[in-house]
Amino acid sequence: MFKRILIANRGEIALRIIRCAREMDIETVVVYSTADKDSLPVMGANYAVCIGPESPAKSYLNQDAIIETALRMECDAIHPGYGFLSENAEFASKCEEHNITFIGPSSELISKMGDKQEARKLMMENGVRVVPGSKEIIKSLKEAKEVAKEIGYPVLIKASAGGGGRGMRKVFEEKDLAKMFKMAKAEAKAAFANDDMYIEKLVINPRHIEVQILADKYGNVVSLGERDCSIQKNNQKMLEESPACGLSDEKRREISDMAILAGKVSGYNSVGTCEFILDKDENFYFIEMNTRIQVEHPVTEAVSDVDLIRQQIRVAAGLKLDIKNEDVELRGHAIEFRICAKTPGVIKNLHIPSGFGVRIETHLYNGYEITPFYDPMIAKVIVRGRSRLEVIRRLRRVLEEMVIDGVETNVAFLHQLTYHPDFLKGSYDTGFYEKEHSKIESWIGEVLTLSKDA
Ligand code: ADP
Repeated sequence: MFKRILIANRGEIALRIIRCAREMDIETVVVYSTADKDSLPVMGANYAVCIGPESPAKSYLNQDAIIETALRMECDAIHPGYGFLSENAEFASKCEEHNITFIGPSSELISKMGDKQEARKLMMENGVRVVPGSKEIIKSLKEAKEVAKEIGYPVLIKASAGGGGRGMRKVFEEKDLAKMFKMAKAEAKAAFANDDMYIEKLVINPRHIEVQILADKYGNVVSLGERDCSIQKNNQKMLEESPACGLSDEKRREISDMAILAGKVSGYNSVGTCEFILDKDENFYFIEMNTRIQVEHPVTEAVSDVDLIRQQIRVAAGLKLDIKNEDVELRGHAIEFRICAKTPGVIKNLHIPSGFGVRIETHLYNGYEITPFYDPMIAKVIVRGRSRLEVIRRLRRVLEEMVIDGVETNVAFLHQLTYHPDFLKGSYDTGFYEKEHSKIESWIGEVLTLSKDA
């Protein structure tokens, strides 16, 4: 097992990794930017090294400074967390060159899965259902027209190197194709320095269902069930839950088996997530594989009782998975809400709730300054219970109890969201936020009662 690992991240996930490492008797070195000098990860790690100014490009994305620190501090491995360098094949490869273990899949796998059209092709050839669409990179507008006509409008133009919803354009009619193709290509080129495009059938307001997989270097792949992440604002997930509502056991098993197959055919060897979209008729299609730990991983931990960071570190160290598919027992229900700051500011009067079935992951403390340089997520509330209704009541109680002064947050919005009839029924898709958010916002300040639920 590793003796000392470097954590190339910040905020709640850096803290999450430090806590896990302590339980595994592994020392931690955290790298940080000047903006984070007074942060909890810096205080909590065994060693902390400032690697640059607040700009992510000069600190958390500064590959050479991170590698140099890992070598100087004699770290055996680097944990990238999520975001930043977590899906950067070049960085993983630099780690490999310096004999530092990258806690994630091999650089080869990251680039294979990061090239979405390549991944699509691999999946298609091996029986994993993908969204109908192009089989190769689209080379010209003429070809784009032919493919779109063949699969039928509406279509979605996507960047093969895409991420975070960028380089994507919906096209409803042929007359808009040329313009959208050009725009998506330009956006992809600017964001990813790569304008390879492909085309998929646009599924209207699908559900976003993803499966957590765990794999080791010996070909074992385990599924820990699905998460429904359909409530999204501009392609950013807002809440996640497991199990997904209203799926038959048979459908659930099919999706899970498909994710295991995706893991096997790609030779996957770390924790990862297979993302699928589910249409109105419950047809599901693979869209991509995320080759890292995800923000929403605690939802799966809550229902499976498996520590995913621990498993990720173990398999990176070359150990075999100590869990088999037949041992996986998923129990009860869990929902995660992402708490975000809408403004920078200094935290005051902080009260973080706790109690039965509640887990809160946060790096906040009284006096902590939220700067504008990084992701606005400041806490994750993960609640579990025997039933979904029990979880929803518990979530309301937690959000009512929570006090975060000094910055504006989305706590009141999330609280009122729990009263929305469709959310209560578990009947929502990726169109939910866009359609319902103004109604929910108009409820802020109103006292909604349980009797309004039904
Ligand atoms: P990114 O890596 O940029 O997040 P994804 O391929 O994961 O891109 O797609 C982002 C979101 O767009 C998905 O969560 C899903 O909600 C939606 N989406 C992706 N593909 C389709 C599709 N073919 N039809 C409808 N919605 C889609």
